[in-house]
Amino acid sequence: MDERFIRRMMSTMKCTVCGERYESGNVNVLGHREDVWFLSVFCPSCHSQGLVAAVIKDGKAPQIVTDLMQGEKAKFGAGNRVEADDILDMHAFLKGFDGDFSKLFAR
Ligand SMILES: [Zn+2]
Repeated sequence: MDERFIRRMMSTMKCTVCGERYESGNVNVLGHREDVWFLSVFCPSCHSQGLVAAVIKDGKAPQIVTDLMQGEKAKFGAGNRVEADDILDMHAFLKGFDGDFSKLFAR
């Protein structure tokens, strides 16, 4: 699994705000924990930005676990960009995260 594949996979996804497709150049791989990849995406069309977690396994269609843009649509729709703090939070989260999404989302 390499970042190029992830970017290509993400370029088939559509922006949840405006419906345009992402371009592979607008996808940043933040890191991964085993099969769970964390990505930041930037829509070239409406300039919204978001964080995505996806489970990507060899030979399987990727499964988007969470798309933070959905919940923060209003925030991004208002023209705010992802703050540096948000990215730092994500990195802190990645460091401490044990990879157990079922536990994480059971809350
Ligand atoms: Zn968009």
